[in-house]
Amino acid sequence: MLSRSKAYLWITLYLYLCCRVGSGGAQNAKDVILLDSKAQQTELEWISYPPNGWEEISGLDENYTPIRTYQVCQVMEPNQNNWLRTNWIEKGDARRIFVELKFTLRDCNSLPGVVGACKETFNLYYQETDSEVGRGLREDQYVKIDTIAADESFTQGDLGERKMKLNTEVRMIDSVTRRGFYLAFQDVGACIALVSVKVYYKKCWSIIENLATFPDTTTGSEFSSLVEVEGMCVSDAEEEADNSPKMHCSTDGEWLVPIGKCICKAGFHQKGDACEPCGRGYYKSSSQDLQCSRCPAHSFNDREGSWRCDCEDGYYRALSDPPSVACTRPPSAPQNLVYNTNQTTVNLEWSAPADTGGRNDVTYRVGCRRCSWEPEECVPCGPNVGFSPAQSGLVDTYVNIVDLLAHANYTFEVEAVNGVSDLSRTQRLFAAVSIATGQAAPSQVSEVIKEKVQQRSIQLSWQEPHQPNGVITEYEIKYYEKDQKDRIYSTVRSKSTSATVNNLKPSTAYVFQIRAFTEAGYGTFGPRLEITTKEEATAAIVSSEQNPVIIIAVVAVAGTIILVFMVFGFIIGRRHCGYSKADQEGDEELYFQFKFPGTKTYIDPETYEDPNRAVHQFAKELDASCIKIERVIGAGEFGEVCSGRLKLPGKRDVSVAIKTLKVGYTEKQRRDFLCEASIMGQFDHPNVVHLEGVVTRGKPVMIVIEYMENGSLDAFLRKHDGQFTVIQLVGMLRGIAAGMRYLADMGYVHRDLAARNILVNSNLVCKVSDFGLSRVIEDDPEAVYTTTGGKIPVRWTAPEAIQYRKFTSASDVWSYGIVMWEVMSYGERPYWDMSNQDVIKAIEEGYRLPAPMDCPPGLHQLMLDCWQKDRAERPKFDQIVGILDKMIRNPNTLKTPVGTCTRPISPLLDQSTPDFAAFRSVGEWLEAIKMERYRDNFTAAGYSSLESVARMSIEDVMSLGITLVGHQKKIMSSIQTMRAQMLHLHGTGVQV
Ligand code: AMP
Repeated sequence: MLSRSKAYLWITLYLYLCCRVGSGGAQNAKDVILLDSKAQQTELEWISYPPNGWEEISGLDENYTPIRTYQVCQVMEPNQNNWLRTNWIEKGDARRIFVELKFTLRDCNSLPGVVGACKETFNLYYQETDSEVGRGLREDQYVKIDTIAADESFTQGDLGERKMKLNTEVRMIDSVTRRGFYLAFQDVGACIALVSVKVYYKKCWSIIENLATFPDTTTGSEFSSLVEVEGMCVSDAEEEADNSPKMHCSTDGEWLVPIGKCICKAGFHQKGDACEPCGRGYYKSSSQDLQCSRCPAHSFNDREGSWRCDCEDGYYRALSDPPSVACTRPPSAPQNLVYNTNQTTVNLEWSAPADTGGRNDVTYRVGCRRCSWEPEECVPCGPNVGFSPAQSGLVDTYVNIVDLLAHANYTFEVEAVNGVSDLSRTQRLFAAVSIATGQAAPSQVSEVIKEKVQQRSIQLSWQEPHQPNGVITEYEIKYYEKDQKDRIYSTVRSKSTSATVNNLKPSTAYVFQIRAFTEAGYGTFGPRLEITTKEEATAAIVSSEQNPVIIIAVVAVAGTIILVFMVFGFIIGRRHCGYSKADQEGDEELYFQFKFPGTKTYIDPETYEDPNRAVHQFAKELDASCIKIERVIGAGEFGEVCSGRLKLPGKRDVSVAIKTLKVGYTEKQRRDFLCEASIMGQFDHPNVVHLEGVVTRGKPVMIVIEYMENGSLDAFLRKHDGQFTVIQLVGMLRGIAAGMRYLADMGYVHRDLAARNILVNSNLVCKVSDFGLSRVIEDDPEAVYTTTGGKIPVRWTAPEAIQYRKFTSASDVWSYGIVMWEVMSYGERPYWDMSNQDVIKAIEEGYRLPAPMDCPPGLHQLMLDCWQKDRAERPKFDQIVGILDKMIRNPNTLKTPVGTCTRPISPLLDQSTPDFAAFRSVGEWLEAIKMERYRDNFTAAGYSSLESVARMSIEDVMSLGITLVGHQKKIMSSIQTMRAQMLHLHGTGVQV
C-alpha cells in the first residue's frame, strides 16, 4: 500500500506543476458559481465514508494560496467503495448545472506492487433534495452522473522524470427540480486527488440591443435549447410595428439571433443606445424617420422633442398635408374675370390667381346670387340654376351657367380655393361680376294631364312652365299619329293651360308635345305623351263628333256664323260697345277655328250702357277666397293699393297687386274704378300690365293685377340713378315701345304715357299701365287744365293734343320720346323747373330737350324724331321697336363718344338754329339754361369764357359748389352740347 505521506507528496508536487499550465476548463468569468472548493480556505468538511477512504488534505496552489483537496489511494486492497459527499448546494434559478472536476489519477502501472485491485476511474453522483438531509449517506439515493476516467495520469518519462498532468472533466446535470442537491464521488480502488470541484450554471447577462433592453436570463435546461427573451424598449422608443424585439439566450450564456427592434418615437432620434429629443426648430414626425429634420417653410417650433412644427400666422396645413411639407395659405382671387351672356346663359372665364398660396391643388367655386334692383337684396340662386362642368371643384378656369331667370340681375363670385382655404378665417377673396340676363323663351311644359279621352278627341291640361320668363301668351300643342310611317305633325294652339284636340281617329295612338310662347319666342317642347283614343262604339251610330263630313259642314256653318257675328259685333260694338266674349267661353283657339288676324280691337267700355256688362265681358270675376291681401303698397284714386297673392284652382299661386274701391263709393266712382279693369282686361301683352280679374260680387270691390315688384319706373330710376348699363336702359325702352305698339295696333290711345305710368317688375320688365279714359288724366297730378279744356300733362303731351286735343298714337309717340328722355336721365323731370307755359312756348318755337348725360347720340336722335312737329313725320311704334332692337343687337351703336353729340344742341335744342355760338358770355349761357344762379360760382372759379367752360368735367362742375344732382346734369349736358358744337364749328376737339 502506498503510504499516505508519499501520496501527499506527489499531490503537492502535482499541484505545483499543473496549476502553472492553466486550468483549461469551460467555465468563464460570467458564470454563476454555486460551489468552488478552491475558493474556500477553511476545511471543506464534506462527508467521507468509510472514514479511511477519502481524506481532506490541505495544499498550496501555484500562488502558494492554500487550497483544500480530497484524496484516496486504497489500491492495494480489493473491493473498495469509498464515498465522498459535498455539502448541500442550493441551485438558485439554475436550470442546467455544470460540474467541473480537476483531479489527478495515478496510473496503476506506475504503482509498484499493485495488482488486480487497482482502478483508474471513479464515479460521480448527485442527489436532489429541497433542504439539507443530515450527514447519513445512502448510496441508493444517488443518481449516477458519469464514470470519470483520467485523460492523463502520471507516467514515467523516457528519462525517468515524471510528468504530471491535471485532468479536467466537466459534466452537466440537466434539470434539477428540487431546491438543491449534493454531489458524491465514489472511489472503487483508484489513486485520486480531487484538486478542485466547481459547480456553476450559465446566464445571458442583461444587454441593450437595437434600443431594447434584455434582462439577465438563465440558460435553458436541455442541451442546445435557446431561451427566447422579449426585449423592452428603452425610454422614448417604441417597438417597430409587427416586429417586437426578441433575442435568444443560448446554453452557453450567449445572446443569439436578435429579431425585431425598437425605434425612437416621433420627436426623438437615436444616439447610441438611447433616444434623445429633437432640438428646437427641428422635428421628427414619425418613429420610422431616422433623423430629426429642420422645420419646413412657414413653420416653426420652440420646444424640444416635437413631432411637428406649427404654422406661422396666416399659414395652414391641410389635414392631408404631411408635417414635412411647408405651411401654405389660401390663394388670392382669380384674375381677369370676364363674362358672356346669351339670354339666360352666362359664361364666365378667368385666369389663375396671382398667388396659389404655395399649393398646387387650386380649384375654383362659383357663388351665385340673384339680386333685386335694391342693393344688398340678394338671395342664393337655388338648385334650379345649372353649372357646367360644376359649381365647385372646378379645375379649369371657366364655367357655363344655365337656366337663369330672364331679365334678372345676378352676381357671380368666383373664388379660388386650395386645400387650406376652409381652414383660414381671413376674408375670402374672389372676383365678382354682376350680370343682367336677357330675355329668354319659356322653359318646358312638363306636367301634362289627360283630362278626357274620347273616340275622336282628347282633352289635355298642363301646368305653366317653371320658368315662364315672361307672360305666356299662347301654348302650342303638337301631335302626330304614333304609328304613321311619314310623321305628319298637326298643331293646336291655346291661350290657357288646357286644350281639346278634336278630329282624331278612334283606337289610335297619338303622341303629344306642348310648348309655351312669350314675347321672347317659343320654349322647347316638353316630353312626349302618348295617348290612345277610345274604340269606336258601333258603326251604326254616327254622331256629329265622329263624322268628318258633318264636322266640316258644322265648322263651315259655324265659321260663317262667327264671321257674320264678329263683323256685326264689331259694327254694333262701335255703337253699343257690342264686343261679346260670351261665345268664346274658354279662350282656346283651335287650329281649325276661324281666326281673323288684326281684328282684335280695343272697345271703349264707356260705350256700354251697362258698365257691369263691360267689366264681365273683359275681366274674369274672381272668387274673393282665392285672394290673400298681404300689405298696403300705395294709395290709388279710389282706395288703397295692396300686394297679395292669388291662387286659382289648378294654377300656381302668383303675386298680385290689388286695387280696392274704398267704402262709401258712389255708383259713378264704382263705374270709373272698374273701367280700368274693362280696358286692361282687353289687353294681353308681356309689356302691358296684365289683369288677373275683378271682384265685383263682394266687398270691397277689387281689381287684381299682376304684381310689379319695382313699382313705377320714374321712382325706380331715381332710386337707382346711374346704376344701369345703356343696354339695360334701352332694354326697358324696347319693352315700353313693344307694349305701346300692341296698344296702338289695338287702336288704343293711352294719352298719359309717362315714366310714372310704367310699372317695373323684379326682372326689370317694363309694362305700360294706368288705363282709363279721361279719368286717368284727371287723376294725374301732372295734368293741368289747358285753354282747350280738360286736363293735360303738358310736358309729356304732343303740341297738337295740347292745342286741339288731337290724341292719337302719334301723340303717344311724342310722349314716348319724353319717356325715353326720362329713362336716359334716370327720372329727371322733363324741362326741369320750367313752367308749363314756358314749355309750351319753347316747343312751339322749335326747342327740344337736349340729350341727357351719357345718352348715346342715336337714342337722342330717336327722341328728336318722336318730337317732330308734324305728327305724320314721327316714327310709328313698330319702327321704334325695330330701331331699338337694332341698337341692342349692335351695342357699338350705343357707345357715347365723349363730347361728340351728333347734333349741336342748345339747352333746349333749337331745331332750326343749331348755333351754340349765339351766347356771348358764360352769364348769357347760364341764363339760357336757367342756371344763372350759379353765375358767381363760375366767375369766382375763373371760368370767364365759354371755351374754358367747354373743357369742364363733372368734377369741375361739382367743385363749384353745385350740389343738386339735377343741376349738375343739366349743366353738364349743356357743356357736352357746347363741346360738340365747337368741334362741329372749328373741327377741333376740346381736351377734357
Ligand atoms: P295707381 O292707382 O295705378 O296709380 O297705383 C298707385 C300706386 O300703387 C302706384 O304708384 C304703384 O306704386 C302701386 N301700384 C299700382 N299697380 C301696381 C302693380 N301692379 N304692382 C305694384 N305696384 C302697383
